[in-house]
Amino acid sequence: YDLKDEDLKDLQELGAGNGGSVKKVEHVPTHTLMAKKIVLIDAKPSVRKQILRELQIMHNCHSDYIISFYGAFLSDPNICICMEFADKGSLDGIYKRIGAIDIDVVSKVALAVLEGLTYLYDVHRIIHRDIKPSNILFNSKGQIKICDFGVSGELINSIADTFVGTSTYMSPERIQGAQYTVKSDVWSLGISLIELALGRFPFSDSSSDDDDSDLSDFEGTLSPSKPMTLSLPPPKSKGLDTKESKRNKRKSKGVSLQGGGMTMSILELLQHIVNEPAPRLTPEGRFPKMAEDFVYGCLMKDPDQRKTPKDLLQHEWIVHARETSFDLEAWAGTF
Ligand code: ATP
Ligand code: MG
Repeated sequence: YDLKDEDLKDLQELGAGNGGSVKKVEHVPTHTLMAKKIVLIDAKPSVRKQILRELQIMHNCHSDYIISFYGAFLSDPNICICMEFADKGSLDGIYKRIGAIDIDVVSKVALAVLEGLTYLYDVHRIIHRDIKPSNILFNSKGQIKICDFGVSGELINSIADTFVGTSTYMSPERIQGAQYTVKSDVWSLGISLIELALGRFPFSDSSSDDDDSDLSDFEGTLSPSKPMTLSLPPPKSKGLDTKESKRNKRKSKGVSLQGGGMTMSILELLQHIVNEPAPRLTPEGRFPKMAEDFVYGCLMKDPDQRKTPKDLLQHEWIVHARETSFDLEAWAGTF
């Protein structure tokens, strides 16, 4: 594709995140549906060109588990990245619509993400860096694919400057400033799988959502799946998902998340991840032992003990996921 902005017809807003916003578009000359990500880059032209060059690596990424790349171009002051459109959206949107995801589906998600991560790392030496449900996409053919991986060091830097917020999938070693490795992605996968299986963000515990007096207690309320309020000066923006609050979140350094009466700053959450035991796939007995064990292996706090994506592809839960006849295409038809 020779992509030009004037050939792309806007069809629908798909969402917005820290890095920018995403629209469903049609590439009119070829009638191809695409997702166009618009990233505002506050950087010199030379840096922008560098980003664009680095993004070209994605042209060489071909895997059933990776969202295809159609091209990127500058559209001042933005960089536009065009990619395969996933018609069922991201897994965070899906569980927020239909509730907790069936554990058989979750096992297929684990399989797909591990395949994607292994491909990126083995073939291109790329570490994803941003595994979370909103970066795992699903389509009506029943395919699960990952997107938004960190191909461009310059892009990572540019966005990092303005980044505050959803660092909640970050591994303990990353929070403490250690080198990023594939194992950091494994941690993020573990957190994401619990979130999908429970239908809520794991650093919260639904068993005690009446206790909202103790601010150092994270139980019960902090969850991106529930409406949260950003406490900002002035404290009026509501809901994490509006573009405005995303912008505010980026601007504000002293941001805190509030839900159901409890307030926890990003800093407190990060401290919690570093200091407290890792979450588990609980309550015990609700999910297959294999699933519990797999997630446990992802969430070893010490990266030396944590498994690599390659190790985890051999795990019995993943072997089972590969063999099961569970029909994802049929499942996609149910919502
Ligand atoms: P962050 O910016 O913090 O990574 P995010 O992943 O939610 O958060 P974006 O990457 O900007 O933010 O994506 C916004 C939303 O657009 C996603 O939640 C997803 O639902 C949707 N989306 C992104 N890419 C695609 C795609 N290729 N096909 C369909 N929907 C997409
Ligand atoms: Mg994303």
